[in-house]
Order: sequence, then C-alpha cells, then structure tokens
Amino acid sequence: MSRLPPRPDLEWKDDGTPVSRAFDDVYFSLSDGLEETRSVFLKACGLPERWETTPRFTVAELGFGSGLNFLGLLACWKDSPKPDEAWLHFTSVEKFLMSADDARRVLARWADLADLTELLLARWPVRTKGLQRIEFPELRATLTLYIGDAEDWLSTCEFAANAWFLDGFAPAKNDSMWGDAIYQLMAQRSASGALVGTYTVAGHVRRGLAEVGFQVSKQPGFGRKRERLEAIWPENANIPSRPDLSLACPDKISFKQIVIVGAGIAGACAARAYAERGFAVKLIDQASGPATGASGNPIGLVMPRLDAADTPQARLLIQTYLRARRFYADRCPDELHHLDVRQIPQNDKEQIRFDKLMADPPLDEDWLSRGSEGLVHSGGVMVKPAELVARLTDHSNIELCWNTRLDDLNEIGQPASLVIIATGWQSPDLLGKVITPLTGKLGQVNWGTRQTKASEPAARASGSYILSLDETILFGATFEKIDPGQTPEVSDAATAENIAAAQTLAPDWLDGLDLSTLQARASVRGTTPDRMPIAGVCFEAERVRSVLQPLSKGADVSICLPHTPNVYALCGLGARGFTFAPLLAELIVAQSLGEPLPLARPEIEQVTPVRFLVRAVRKGTAFSSES
Ligand code: SAM
Repeated sequence: MSRLPPRPDLEWKDDGTPVSRAFDDVYFSLSDGLEETRSVFLKACGLPERWETTPRFTVAELGFGSGLNFLGLLACWKDSPKPDEAWLHFTSVEKFLMSADDARRVLARWADLADLTELLLARWPVRTKGLQRIEFPELRATLTLYIGDAEDWLSTCEFAANAWFLDGFAPAKNDSMWGDAIYQLMAQRSASGALVGTYTVAGHVRRGLAEVGFQVSKQPGFGRKRERLEAIWPENANIPSRPDLSLACPDKISFKQIVIVGAGIAGACAARAYAERGFAVKLIDQASGPATGASGNPIGLVMPRLDAADTPQARLLIQTYLRARRFYADRCPDELHHLDVRQIPQNDKEQIRFDKLMADPPLDEDWLSRGSEGLVHSGGVMVKPAELVARLTDHSNIELCWNTRLDDLNEIGQPASLVIIATGWQSPDLLGKVITPLTGKLGQVNWGTRQTKASEPAARASGSYILSLDETILFGATFEKIDPGQTPEVSDAATAENIAAAQTLAPDWLDGLDLSTLQARASVRGTTPDRMPIAGVCFEAERVRSVLQPLSKGADVSICLPHTPNVYALCGLGARGFTFAPLLAELIVAQSLGEPLPLARPEIEQVTPVRFLVRAVRKGTAFSSES
C-alpha cells in the first residue's frame, strides 16, 4: 500500500452532495446535511447543554469526511455560553481524506458556516498518514485527526470521549466502521456518561453496542429515516482494561501552579500552550532573557527529516514538522519566512535513500519534490529564534522570571506544582534519578553580512546547512563532544570546518559574503543515544526497573509504570528544537491535563523518557547514561 493515503472516489449529486463510489453511499442526508448533524449527533449527545457541566469536552467521530459535522459542532460551540476554562476537543478518523478543493465544494452551500469553513480550509489536514493536531485557539477548540483506518485509530490513540458521532456510511456497506472490535475499543475510550449518536438502527449495531455495555435506545429518525439510535455509556461503568503496556498515559493530576524551567523554544512552546488553556504559568530561566542556550542562534530552520520507510519514527518526524509550521503560523505569522529548502544528498547511500523516498513519498508534491540536485521541501520555514521565543512567551498568563536558577525540584514545592523541565542538556542535573540518558554536543554556527542586496530567503542542507535571510548568511553547524560542566566556546577550527562545508554546499553564496563581518556562536545541544528527543512524564528508574523485570524473560507487562506525576521532561531536542518543540510540548500539556493525546502510542514510545530503560531491561543490559 502506498504511503500517501488514498483520496476518495467521489461522484456528485445535482445538489452538490458527495457520494462515495467505493461505498456506494452519500456522505450525509440528502434532506440537509447540517440539520442532520444537529439532530442525529449534537442533540443525541446532549449538546450544547452538557458543556455547562463538562466544559472541557471531547467528541470522537468515526468518519471525518468533509468536516461538516465538525463545523456544525464548532458553530454550536462558538455560540454557546460556557465557562472560561472551556475547551472543545474533536477527534476523528478518516481513511480517504478529501482534498481541500473537494471539501470547499461540499461545504460551500452552507452560508451560515462560511467563516468557520474558511478557518477549517486554511488549516485543512495534510495528506499524510497518522495523527494531526490542528488547533483553533481563537475558538478554544482542537481537531485531532487520524488519517488511516478506524480500528487502528481506536487501538493506538488515547482519549476519553464524552460524546461519539458514529458516521461511517451505512453498516451494510462498510463493516470496517461497525463491528465488535470497534465497539469494544469505543467502550475503552468512553468517559463516564458518554453519549452516542448515529443515524442507523441496524440490529447488529444495537446488539454490538449493548454487548459491550452501552445502553441503547431508538429515537425518531431524521429526514427519510424513520428511526435513529442513541446510546449511553453508564456513569461509573466498568471500563475494560487496556491491553498493552501503558508507557504513555499517566493519570490526570491536580496542581496549584505550573512552573516551566528553561526559556528556550521547548519551554516557550509549553508555556504558550498552557497559557492558552487558561493556566497561569511561571517560566523561569537562569539567564536574563529568552533563548540563550541552544535556541539562541540568529536564524533557525524548520525543515522535515523524511525517512524512506513508514515507521513510527518517520511519522513522528513528519507530524512534528507539520505541527511546528501551524503552531508558529497561527501565533506569530510575521515571524515566519517561508521558503523551499534544497536538500542535497551527502553521499551515494543518501542518494539511494532519496530515490526510495521519492518512489513512495509520505507527502505530496505540495510539500516534497525532486530538484536538480536532490530534494526540495516546499514547506520550509526560517525564524529568528530570540524574536520568536519572545513573541510566544508574550502572553498575559505567562510570568517571566529571569535570573532565576533552580537547583532542586523540592524548591518549588511539588506535588502542588506541575513542573516541566526544559533546560536542554542541563536537564539531568534537575531530574536526577528520574531521567534518561542525555548528553551535550557542542555546535558552532558562523554568519556574516552579504555584500550584495538581500535575496529571497533560501536554504540548502546536506548534513550541514547554509541559510540566507535578509542581509545575513549563516552556516554550520559543527557537532562535537563536550564534557559536562565545560563552557561552550567558539574555535577557529570549527569556523574552518563550517567554511569548508559551506564552500561545498553553496560556493556562490560564500563568494557573496563579506568575510570581515564573520561572527560565530557556540552552544550545547542536548542529544540522546537514539537521537530522538525526550518528552513526557518522568519515571522512577529503580521502581520501573523492578516492575519491568518480566520483559527480560520475553514476557509482557501491562501496567502503568511508576512515575512522578507532576514532573515532565521536554529535552534532548538536538539540532531540531524548532521543529520538535511545538508538538512535543503539546504532548506534555495533553498528558498532564488528560486531553486526547496528539500522538499515537507507537510515536509516543519514540520519545517517552522511559524508553532507554525499557530497552535496557529487554536486552538484559545495564542502564547508564550511554544506554
Ligand atoms: N462526518 C462526515 C462529514 O461531516 O462530512 C461524513 C462521513 S461519511 C458518511 C463516512 C466517512 O468514513 C467517509 O469519509 C469515509 O471515507 C470514511 N471511512 C470509511 N471507512 C473507513 C475506515 N475503515 N476508517 C476510517 N474512515 C473510513
């Protein structure tokens, strides 16, 4: 199967209603799709009334289609009175994602939805497999869409639905959206008192839902349908246990304040996400201003790393990239410089990898194409880090505490505080025994002023990179060992290495540089043994080790691992901080607030702080900072 998700094969009725040829069914009622949304889904699920008592509310839908149900729900959400802390999460699944043009054609007929339609189309999901987190901060709402099969979604994604919209074509025409496995997973992902709405009254749907514990009733139907179904997941129902090792999802916690340590891009993204949810955040840093560590180069580049196979790691890398672009664009559009990034293979092996990637690309031609020398990433973005971090942290709910050093977590009084450690390579000092291996790598960049007039923003990458923005050309970065406690210093050797690399990558750019203006900056990036970042709740290493012992004998372990529920780590972002930070910060926010998680479990396992320990126990090796 191709890595690019399939598009639906659509036919159009005279009135503009789309029909799926593959399923031989309409996307919504021919009577009136929006009225159907209101009656079959919103009313059945007790909306808008339930928002008064459950202001942080999660709706889960099977079958995203054109997004009409989502927009109908958003319109109702927007117009309803609700408490200050209200936030709407809508999570859905779609195997055959429509193009934005087709969605526009579908949605055009509802003039009442025009403004919301434009908002959605401007952020329309990108055609790539897996989860995408798309926010509407202006509406206090989030869309978390899984592009793939419904059962995969339900078995790998964590959320607790307060309402379910079952909208997966007629059961007789599509058994992949209806069936015992689906109902069982729905039961596991239902919050106490969850309500279900659907247009069908098929006997096997009624029986299947009832068998796993939903209380089902028939109601008068909408349009040409005589009846429809409602169901309720009873209050305090016995939720069937989750089958697999829960590395990812700690319990919801209570706290009196949020303290984020480290005001680089990781801390800034986390602070912003909590602040937008309405929480007061203290962002502390020992420095006297933002982005003084690894986030502090004069220019930062957001570009994807694309792997040749569809693995959890490959998906994570794409998803972090997409989220970073959206996160910055929604909040700081003026700080972004959009560009095509040219990626040139470093060697023959990489050329083979590029060929493999282009034979079955994970993103379409709007994002990725072949250039004369390698790949072209059309969604690249450059930022000026200190300005971006300052803009992100400029929020009335964020208190900035400069020149404030924290040496011991006990100083901030946990467990009354929720603490996010985002201090880059210095994080282990604070996290002590709860953290995983993290080492520092010294990186130097050089930059200077162009002799000629400024050109369009441009970037070339091939292991090292060279960036051109306004009057500045910046290139680097070195990647060297540094001892703990050693102060990062620039060196002539690193400058020579950077010039040599830039000379190979873009000799003409270097010719245009006034070498008398050359400057250098060295900083330390936190990296991990598998080069993937660390994001999530912290675990208690010794207790986890003993709980995990059965793994060393090949047995499974299916419990929630002992963790420190109020301490989270967001570090080890290496040279990709600006790309990784927004989605990984969102993961932490979602975990700590009990929201639908923005990553599926296989992707979370790539970044969980406990992964090195799990691997060490499985292999029967000692766990050390080099694991
Ligand atoms: N709620 C949609 C709207 O507001 O436009 C209409 C949904 S339409 C009735 C059903 C959707 O389910 C289609 O978009 C279809 O592509 C999707 N679908 C069908 N089988 C699926 C599967 N196994 N997994 C995920 N999505 C599926």
